[in-house]
Amino acid sequence: MAEILARTIEVTRKYSAVTALDRVSIDIHAGELVGLLGPNGAGKSTLVNLFAGLRRPTSGTVELLGGSPLDPVRRRGIGVTPQETGLPPTLRVGECVDFVAAHFPAAVDRGALLERFGLDDLVRRQIGGLSGGQKRRLAVALAFVGDPRLVFLDEPTTGLDVGARRALWDGIRQFHAEGGTVVITSHYLEEIEALAERVVVIGEGRVLTDGTMDEIRGLVGIRRVTLTSAELPDLPGVLGVEHDGSRTHLLTVDADALVRELVLADVPFSDLEIRPTSLEEAFLTITARETITARESQTA
Ligand code: ADP
Ligand code: MG
Repeated sequence: MAEILARTIEVTRKYSAVTALDRVSIDIHAGELVGLLGPNGAGKSTLVNLFAGLRRPTSGTVELLGGSPLDPVRRRGIGVTPQETGLPPTLRVGECVDFVAAHFPAAVDRGALLERFGLDDLVRRQIGGLSGGQKRRLAVALAFVGDPRLVFLDEPTTGLDVGARRALWDGIRQFHAEGGTVVITSHYLEEIEALAERVVVIGEGRVLTDGTMDEIRGLVGIRRVTLTSAELPDLPGVLGVEHDGSRTHLLTVDADALVRELVLADVPFSDLEIRPTSLEEAFLTITARETITARESQTA
């Protein structure tokens, strides 16, 4: 296994009454491109900020490059783009890059960096005059200035149009192809799908799944077949059953096969609906599995 560049061990972070992270343990290995995926409020930014030493855990341990993320020496080995950034409006783009570069022992070539992120025409422009998308691209580019081994990008493409988003993805892929390690957060499945090999799904402060993109895709491929029926027999391919008043929801990866089974079983039913489950519903499915099992054993 490759070297561990960053890790959390049983980390909990509370903001007064809110538990943003609940005993999270994650290892980030050298060379990985890890996507942290989860709905808003899941705890992604909190996790990134703990890794980057911008916040401290309430309990548990965070390690960065073999030491503490609070140690400036370790922090010099990483690059970070926080979810919210403020850049000095009167500074020119080139000056801003130089200013950040001055904090690192070995900065990358400014021209090459700006080109990689499509900012090469803007070197002499004042940041205050940039568009939102241009500012965001600059904020992401700044994570790479210090020639880091590891970068944390928190929702890097927020506010970018499709073209700029793709250009940014290419820049991230290039860094990774050259051996860089990337941790990127997003609440867009599409973004994580385009980039990440390993996906850590976070929900309500906990790691729900940690696996390959294919595994997550399988979860999102779940369909919800909803119908009204007095009594349903056991049907093959049903992953979960939920009751909601007179309506019954059946979760399956093959809705067509399930409907054929329903007809073959000659079950009277009405108001059939089939819907894809959204990513958010997939999260719920992951968390609800225990509940479903418990409910089924109650009714059995
Ligand atoms: P995400 O990045 O996945 O949207 P966050 O880490 O920003 O999630 O937030 C996780 C939870 O912690 C949310 O419930 C959020 O409201 C709460 N939270 C985050 N930052 C603060 C803060 N500074 N003060 C109080 N609550 C916070
Ligand atoms: Mg966030």
